[in-house]
Amino acid sequence: YKINMDEFDLLEELGKGQFGTVKKVFHKPTNVTMAMKEIRLELEESKLNQILMELDILHQSRSEFIVEFYGAFFIESCVYYCMEYMDAGSLDKLYGDGVPEDVLAVITASMVKGLKFLKDKLNIIHRDVKPTNVLVNRAGEVKLCDFGVSGQLTQSLAKTNVGCQSYMAPERIFGDASTYTVQADVWSLGLAMVELAIGKYPYPVPDKNENVGLFAQLTAIVAGNPPSLPADKFSEECRDFVAQCLNKNPKDRPTYGQLLEHLFLNKYENVDMKSWAETAYASRKDIYKQS
Ligand code: ATP
Ligand code: MG
Repeated sequence: YKINMDEFDLLEELGKGQFGTVKKVFHKPTNVTMAMKEIRLELEESKLNQILMELDILHQSRSEFIVEFYGAFFIESCVYYCMEYMDAGSLDKLYGDGVPEDVLAVITASMVKGLKFLKDKLNIIHRDVKPTNVLVNRAGEVKLCDFGVSGQLTQSLAKTNVGCQSYMAPERIFGDASTYTVQADVWSLGLAMVELAIGKYPYPVPDKNENVGLFAQLTAIVAGNPPSLPADKFSEECRDFVAQCLNKNPKDRPTYGQLLEHLFLNKYENVDMKSWAETAYASRKDIYKQS
């Protein structure tokens, strides 16, 4: 069964990334509201077909920590990727001045379980762990999206990839992209946690198109001390967890199994994620909310 554009009502735009636009859409045959990501790619048809084939492995197994994949198709040189709509949006728009430590623990546990699922069940490393790729719904669930499931897609996008906030591990920055290992995702996880905890990206951020500033940021990641959480606001367990992820030596970073056993992830019980998600969603500043 192949989905196509005629089956959708297009609703509002949910956001724009470096490679395209994500829209809320309604799939008429199934009555399901979805998020549809349009990715512009100048590729020949055979490569576009390869991408669709590679995405197909997402139909194999599911996880509650991974945004569900519904299907993909292409029109001319655009790939349309249809996925579960997450109605509170991505974490970058929800963390405000920083999330409370108990909420951070639940978000982190969900991310680690999602990453472990990708690695163990689908043999995938994520490659793009950052707050915009962690989605939340108003039921309080936290799920990962935009992982590197298709080698061809990852390769096609990599050519142009320079954002103004890098979540790349130090060993990747001036190194060889092909030596990417799972430990690089653990660094990105730690960096995302610091951002969620303190309410801002912890390295200097250059103005748009300012290459000197970007170089300074990358140099700080490679040559500087890793960021850490302030001792007066975060527990010893929380600070230790982050410090272990942000070890500059990839071999010394913990595995997902080790992270799941860390005290920080086993410290809090009955965290009300639904209330947090609803409150955080209500104070989002980026959207016009209909009543
Ligand atoms: P980048 O291009 O640097 O990776 P990004 O992750 O923000 O940045 P996109 O992946 O194109 O770019 O997503 C754009 C925005 O759309 C996201 O920031 C997020 O807020 C929103 N979004 C993406 N997928 C969904 C979804 N399934 N449900 C709800 N909102 C989504
Ligand atoms: Mg994204």
